[in-house]
Amino acid sequence: MTSTDTKPADHDTALTSVNPATGEVIGTHVIADDAAVAAAVAKARAAAATWGALSFDERRTHLLRWSSKLVQDSEKFCELIHAENGKPLDDAFLELMLALEHIAWAAKNAKKVLGPKKVSPGALMSNFSARLEQRPLGVVGVIGPWNYPVYTPNGSIAYALAAGNTVVFKPSEYSTGIGNFLAHAFAAANPELPEGVFITINGYGETGAALVRSEVDKIAFTGSTATGKRIMAAAAERLTPVLLECGGKDAVIVAADADIKAAADAVAWGATANSGQTCAGVERVYVDRSVREEFVAEVKRILTDIKPGSDEKAAYGPMTMPSQIDIVRRHIEDALKNGGTAVLGGPESVKAPFIEPVVLVDVDENSEAVAEETFGPTITIRTVDGVDEAVELANNSKYGLSSAVYSKKNGLDIARRLRVGATSVNSVLAFAAIPGLPFGGVGDSGIGRIHGEPGLREFTRPHSIAVQRFTVPGMALLSYSRTDSTMKLLRKLVPFLHGRHK
Ligand code: NAD
Repeated sequence: MTSTDTKPADHDTALTSVNPATGEVIGTHVIADDAAVAAAVAKARAAAATWGALSFDERRTHLLRWSSKLVQDSEKFCELIHAENGKPLDDAFLELMLALEHIAWAAKNAKKVLGPKKVSPGALMSNFSARLEQRPLGVVGVIGPWNYPVYTPNGSIAYALAAGNTVVFKPSEYSTGIGNFLAHAFAAANPELPEGVFITINGYGETGAALVRSEVDKIAFTGSTATGKRIMAAAAERLTPVLLECGGKDAVIVAADADIKAAADAVAWGATANSGQTCAGVERVYVDRSVREEFVAEVKRILTDIKPGSDEKAAYGPMTMPSQIDIVRRHIEDALKNGGTAVLGGPESVKAPFIEPVVLVDVDENSEAVAEETFGPTITIRTVDGVDEAVELANNSKYGLSSAVYSKKNGLDIARRLRVGATSVNSVLAFAAIPGLPFGGVGDSGIGRIHGEPGLREFTRPHSIAVQRFTVPGMALLSYSRTDSTMKLLRKLVPFLHGRHK
């Protein structure tokens, strides 16, 4: 089933999607139970026979047709993203544009990255030819979040499809309409393909859990660390491999030689855009003492004029998920209780469903506002005495998703010392807009990589093939017909091959 089946809601069998700014109902979707999930996976399995047998060039054509359809329908799509997620229309368009970049990269690079490769057989096996072929896994189950409901799941969907898999996608319960729009656009752009190449199942966490228990060949999850851990434990039952893109607590280091105006501009945006609901958004800043006053004043100056709302002038929208509002309020209160000072805003900035920017300085490193993911338009700024202290504090986190460094001379050196999956130097979040760069974290931020070459390989299994081209009399190493003279020869050869290094 494609989960677009919308019909009047019954409490346990339907999911109602609402506009987070107004509470207006946007759509009602049938919740997929275990049987519906199994049926969707079976349909995707059947379609995998066709889709997986296509050439890379054929799949590229289908994926690019999908992109064109999304461009054609972009106005309608962005309005839906604005209504269901709350982000401004321009931000919705930017998100779509980035997702299209990734679809194009995956479609155009799959052949080069995943096509068959010849491998040297080595001296001892020189009568063989060796090749490495990357095979699709089959059916990939994708479970997505709501904060970037187009860009984020496409890091898995587009790459899994380009690698020859079919996809069953469970969008977040807060972005169900958006997820279904994506799948419908794919089907509409490719009517000749069997239904089931890319389909959705709708529902809450239980539907996602049913997908994890189903006969999918991999689960690609993006969401919170707590859910990621639950999914990994459940996937262990069938040894289903998992890709986990989880939370973050990203730090920015502002060194003494930073361009302070540029750093403040990027930090202000990186901390509050999308209401701060960005996995790789700026949550912590470590600024050198010599430039602290100027930096804090500049961040404050910029954010004083930044206002949330749902009108055309709004810089960012409402909090998409109501339960997150209490977490943000709790983190602000905890920061203030633990010695921090609010130089802009405070608990009164929480005006549900909107939260105005909050800038907290000198907060205790053990408080929730520094140690846990806040996922709101708030930021903590701590003064440090030099780069070593900044690196130590930035790395002192259970998360390790991404980071940024502002330094005119030493950006790259500082970046190399950070325990994360990605770093922007003299920018924030830049890596996420470069499709060839893999994205993913360490520690509680997850396992595996989306995007780039590793992001394509995530959805394949390497198949090694060794072909004997001719036999060498007496040299049959993998046979009882191996002779004594062969072993004598090998005893002479091995020291030459492996025993010459002092
Ligand atoms: P969430 O973990 O609450 O939900 C994510 C998805 O998992 C939803 O579709 C949900 O229905 C499903 N789910 C919930 N319980 C499940 C279970 N037991 N089994 C299977 N599926 C289940 O996360 P969220 O609130 O939607 O998203 C916000 C989080 O996502 C933040 O922590 C953010 O940092 C993270 N995120 C990470 C990245 C990344 O690439 N690393 C990108 C975007 C968001």
